[in-house]
Amino acid sequence: MNLSYSEEYEAFRREVRAFLDKHWTEADREKAGEAPILAMPRKQTEREAAFRAKAVEAGYLYKSVPRAYGGSEQPFDAFKSTIIVEEFRAAKAPREIPGQGVAMLVPTLVEHGTPEQKQQFIAPTVTGDLVWCQGYSEPGAGSDLASLRTKGELDGDHWIVNGQKIWTSNASEADWMFALVRTEPDAPKHQGITYMLIEMATPGIEVRPLKQLNGGTDFTEVFLENVRVPKNSIVGARGEGWPVSRSTLKHERAFIGGTDYVRKTFDGLVMLAQFTNLRGEPAIKNDTIRTRLVELEARLIAAEFHGKRLLTMSGKKQDTGLAGLITKNATSELQHDLVDLALDIMGDCAALATGEEKAPFSGMFVDAYMWTFALLIGGGTTNIQRNIIAERGLGLPRDPATKR
Ligand SMILES: Cc1cc2nc3c(=O)[nH]c(=O)nc-3n(C[C@H](O)[C@H](O)[C@H](O)COP(=O)(O)OP(=O)(O)OC[C@H]3O[C@@H](n4cnc5c(N)ncnc54)[C@H](O)[C@@H]3O)c2cc1C
Repeated sequence: MNLSYSEEYEAFRREVRAFLDKHWTEADREKAGEAPILAMPRKQTEREAAFRAKAVEAGYLYKSVPRAYGGSEQPFDAFKSTIIVEEFRAAKAPREIPGQGVAMLVPTLVEHGTPEQKQQFIAPTVTGDLVWCQGYSEPGAGSDLASLRTKGELDGDHWIVNGQKIWTSNASEADWMFALVRTEPDAPKHQGITYMLIEMATPGIEVRPLKQLNGGTDFTEVFLENVRVPKNSIVGARGEGWPVSRSTLKHERAFIGGTDYVRKTFDGLVMLAQFTNLRGEPAIKNDTIRTRLVELEARLIAAEFHGKRLLTMSGKKQDTGLAGLITKNATSELQHDLVDLALDIMGDCAALATGEEKAPFSGMFVDAYMWTFALLIGGGTTNIQRNIIAERGLGLPRDPATKR
């Protein structure tokens, strides 16, 4: 097994490094610090904007977005994409703007949008000038999303939208929402849904923040009452929003599956075990803790090699199939188990939240622990992912409850 890159790719890596040395200085790197696991969208600074513009010009960011809409329009090359991520991360350089606008809406518009929609939305989204939220989930429609009931009725040149969305991340900051709305109440459940773009400043929209376990308010409920949405603000045809939304979810899953943050958590966990005393000695010397650490590291190494396997398959343009389906569960469950061990090592101190005096590592692990529940649910829950692996990956019979 040869896991090294060919000379062509090593040359590409040198080129990317030279670019970063020239355009993202030591001072920039120091100021940028470590990227958070789940970065929230925000307007970019002038310095970040100038750097991203150079990176697009060089062909390193927004590779699948046409140049006409602010992308760098590069042919797909899994190895080059990975090298770019590795080198940008090492240099703490800005990558693509985080959030659902770039990760989910932009690929959807590239695939399904009209020329006018592409023109209006893609470029300001990739520069971070337009922030988006995803209005899919509703009370009673999460895993079984096609049960959604927010309805849109055509009235002249406008849709009149009424209903409620829930768990809508960063709706308070968003300028626009891409939403699923039922427009054909008599059609079978998957065929009556339309993919709609709704401006958040439209009268009739109320955003109510939801308080989370960790004290934050990244989620909201969004109420829509007689919201008037221009008739042409839909992506794909009327009633055909389900396949459009599926292509977005495909991108969301790819976005969640990486292992770099898991490796960082593991390294932090080892440090925690070195510096925390358990029964009079560093926790890392405790046999039970060591055994659990070794088991977790074995899973981590397996996940990292699995990533290389997927990369090789993508590089050879092979369908990743079952191998691709297992990534999200493997990494999100591993992340959960890592921080679970951190909490055991911390003992009573695990009850101290972020910012509290004496909270080990400033409460970082406690916060990370709470976030792992988000990872296990967002982008399709672990149970649902297992169903998908069983049914689509292993060809087992369909879950009777979800038969259509
Ligand atoms: C961090 C985060 C961010 C999110 N951001 C957004 C957002 O921006 N926009 C948005 O629209 N939504 C968002 N969501 C919502 C998310 O998509 C839903 O929480 C998710 O789809 C699950 O739906 P639910 O919460 O209604 O749970 P339910 O679907 O009610 O599930 C409850 C439990 O039942 C299990 N279950 C359900 N059906 C089955 C089945 N058939 N077989 C086995 N088990 C089953 C589930 O696994 C789960 O454990 C976000 C969620 C999180 C955690």
